[in-house]
Amino acid sequence: MSNYVITPSKQATVAIKDSDDLFPVRRIYCIGRNYADHAIEMGHDPDREPPFFFQKNSDNVDCSGEFPYPPQTSDVHHEIELVVALKSGGVDIALDEALGHVYGYGLGLDMTRRDLQDEMKKMGRPWEIGKAFEKSAPMSPITPVSQVGHLDAGTIQLMVNGELRQKGNLNQMIWKVAEMISCLSEYFELAAGDLIMSGTPAGVGPVVKGDVIVGSVEGIGELTVTVI
Ligand code: MN
Repeated sequence: MSNYVITPSKQATVAIKDSDDLFPVRRIYCIGRNYADHAIEMGHDPDREPPFFFQKNSDNVDCSGEFPYPPQTSDVHHEIELVVALKSGGVDIALDEALGHVYGYGLGLDMTRRDLQDEMKKMGRPWEIGKAFEKSAPMSPITPVSQVGHLDAGTIQLMVNGELRQKGNLNQMIWKVAEMISCLSEYFELAAGDLIMSGTPAGVGPVVKGDVIVGSVEGIGELTVTVI
């Protein structure tokens, strides 16, 4: 048997609600502009263009409840999102089989260094420095489908220091969960452990150190994150 020449990195995990069990994270896919009102606020056409995706790193997941204000930015934004956790995957997954691959749902923040993302957009460069940085994906525990079913409607909202900033409904998603899974599987081989961050409703905006972010998705619960 071969030895590792360095210590392997730790498996990234997300807690399972009301349990000591853990969900091991493989990849994190994110969809852009999946709520029409958010597409409009970012200056884009809300028509049903083909979905587009980007990724965060699996170890960007953080369940500590604290978000350290990251370096190299002065404009970090919150984006509250429904998180879809896969228990299985494959390629070219049919639309009517897609939901059968879902283990459960959680909520997450797609924290974004907006100033850097905007610069990269202007120059036609990749978004990683705006999206895929340390602890850029705070997440709640995952609720299994066996407890919550599949979520096609329900309020998704975010408050900062008690003030409502983002509010939408899961039924406003331009691309539904099954469609996202099916579409992603045409480009990538999906697998158990993959997470999909499903886009954010309108109202994204900056946070500063000391802010307390409380996100919620009806049926799943709350996520509280303090910016430190
Ligand atoms: Mn997002």
